[in-house]
Amino acid sequence: MTEADDGDGSVGDGADEGDPDVGVVHLVGSGPGDPDLLTVRAARLIDEADVVLHDKLPGPQILGRIPEAKREDVGKRAGGEWTPQEYTNRRLVELAEEGLTVVRLKGGDPFVFGRGGEEAEHLAERGVPFEVVPGVTSAIAGPAVAGIPVTHRDHASAVSFVTGHEDPTKEESAVEWEALAATGGTIVVLMGVGKLPDYVAELRGAGLDADTPVALVERATWPDMHVATGTLETIVDVRDEAGIEPPAITVIGEVAATRERVLGFLRNATTPEAER
Ligand code: SAH
Repeated sequence: MTEADDGDGSVGDGADEGDPDVGVVHLVGSGPGDPDLLTVRAARLIDEADVVLHDKLPGPQILGRIPEAKREDVGKRAGGEWTPQEYTNRRLVELAEEGLTVVRLKGGDPFVFGRGGEEAEHLAERGVPFEVVPGVTSAIAGPAVAGIPVTHRDHASAVSFVTGHEDPTKEESAVEWEALAATGGTIVVLMGVGKLPDYVAELRGAGLDADTPVALVERATWPDMHVATGTLETIVDVRDEAGIEPPAITVIGEVAATRERVLGFLRNATTPEAER
């Protein structure tokens, strides 16, 4: 932040305060998908925005509430290709320079594996004012709605959030599975459906017990949420049998067994138990 940036969008006395006609970009987290888990601020900004740039992760219920006329999808395109990040960056600047109020809506929290950091840096470089609106991250909410606390006084006093999907061009894994295993805490993997067999093997190799509980939470809080549970030994088969697909969260550690202990009384809207 420059000293001229007084944070309210007004023109201060600094030379690099920016063009007062430039709009503001709001980097907004949508939460995991249930519209009730949008923050009050996120809901208000979405209503007030001139344009909302989004991908698919906010989910059908939240996206369905935004008028088509002001939505721009910068996620996966029809051909299955991703919109390049450079395009999104450029588009954000372009729209702001038209003086528009822009919401960049991201699933969960915008700064948790969401490239929000890259967008913030790009906006700052181009002199576009922006605001970060934190959201309920799926990394915590996904396990939670499945009855799994990511920490628990008896089972885990640390939790790590890691990506299971790494740039395949990287020579070495940036995720130190061995070090993670050594923490004895919960490991929450995002983007980890496809590479599940790889990191399960790494964790087994690092000495984690074959019967360490594991849960997969697909489309947490979406109408078609799906949870499957197993152990490090069984979870790859469980994934295949249950047909778990992205987006899903993998929770590894003793806490994952909590679900079984509370399931009979868990009344989260998307669990079958809630309908009993
Ligand atoms: N910023 C997001 C994460 C973006 S990375 C957040 O804070 O939640 C994309 C990954 O997030 C997906 O591959 C999946 O692992 C996870 N994810 C996002 N929304 C999810 C949901 N509703 N249910 C399960 N996993 C989800």
